[in-house]
Amino acid sequence: MTSLGTPLTAHATRVLLLGSGELGKEVAIELMRLGVEVVAVDRYPDAPAMQVAHRSRVIDMLDAEALRAVVASEQPHLIVPEIEALATEVLVEVEAAGEATVIPTARAARLTMDREGIRTLAAEELGLPTSPFRFVDSLAGLESAVAELGTPCVVKPVMSSSGKGQSVVREPADASGAWDYALAGGRASGTRLIVEAFVEFDYEITQLTVRHAGGTTFLDPIGHVQADGDYRKSWQPQPMSDAAAARAREIAGQVTDALGGYGVFGVELFVRGDEVLFNEVSPRPHDTGLVTLASQRLSEFALHARAILGLPLPEHIETVPAASCAVLAEGNGVPIIGGIEQALAVPETDVRLFGKPRVDGRRRIAVTVARGESVEIACDRARAAAHALTVELA
Ligand code: AMP
Repeated sequence: MTSLGTPLTAHATRVLLLGSGELGKEVAIELMRLGVEVVAVDRYPDAPAMQVAHRSRVIDMLDAEALRAVVASEQPHLIVPEIEALATEVLVEVEAAGEATVIPTARAARLTMDREGIRTLAAEELGLPTSPFRFVDSLAGLESAVAELGTPCVVKPVMSSSGKGQSVVREPADASGAWDYALAGGRASGTRLIVEAFVEFDYEITQLTVRHAGGTTFLDPIGHVQADGDYRKSWQPQPMSDAAAARAREIAGQVTDALGGYGVFGVELFVRGDEVLFNEVSPRPHDTGLVTLASQRLSEFALHARAILGLPLPEHIETVPAASCAVLAEGNGVPIIGGIEQALAVPETDVRLFGKPRVDGRRRIAVTVARGESVEIACDRARAAAHALTVELA
């Protein structure tokens, strides 16, 4: 039996949220609804989840000493990562010492911290189908990987997410440009890259999968479109053949079982006919899953909160056709968002403004979500609402 305490007392159930972006904000809101004490952490103040948490802490989460100190002073029951770039060795230590439960597990956080750990697990240990790939550490290594895999191929820093530093090599002569671009875009100072054969997929999906006290629940597949490393729109359900849908759940089941623990996982898959290839997995709610704010009675964030608290979930979660559209801002300054009346005038539509304190470069600052009689109608509505929004940077 699960019991939950009262926040800000000696009987609180405390969660340390590592990463306080828009996904963490929704997770924090769902935890707050269940009376959980939430401490939001990020490297800058006033991050979205900090605005809805009991307390916040500003640290460099890749700094092991700083992370250890926050865990020691906050004494959380659960540590809930929202991002990959963490001093995961601290999570391994904390879990081994029994000081806190890491969601979903410290090993999952460590393996998904870079592309190499998870790709090696999926392709080599589990034998899951992926695009052919090579890891390289030098321009010469990249050139020979391009020669082996053929063109086009995709080059990604192992320490990166959201397409940063990622490019497509269309002919062998593009390799040195891809090398420079990857080095500039990677998260850490490392030079290790993954080179993957380009997959001519029919469509790509996120197979949200929830591991919880009652078993594993597979949500309906989410279709999405990516551009410049950012998701632009997503919809649910993505129509799939029965064979491809079953294969997607099978692959998602294998990879999430191997990672273990409780919570939502976003398993990214490429689909070509009935064939399904594994791309990567986030052991946490996924940005393309923002659509579940409209498509499901319990969003991926509500499901994550329940699962990590040890609560069981239904075997099947109903979906109504829905879509989401990301709203990006580019430039420098404090976002001021207008056109909200016009956006909300689109039927069956909602907006989430993330409250990001500043934009420097390109950042997602809001999302629109909409329902419809079909995913096409929902996509049109979400897009119309996003286009109605105006963004000024002050
Ligand atoms: P990732 O950061 O690995 O999720 O890649 C971002 C996006 O780039 C994916 O969602 C795909 O749209 C595209 N992409 C990544 N890897 C490949 C690949 N091997 N072949 C084709 N497209 C890819």
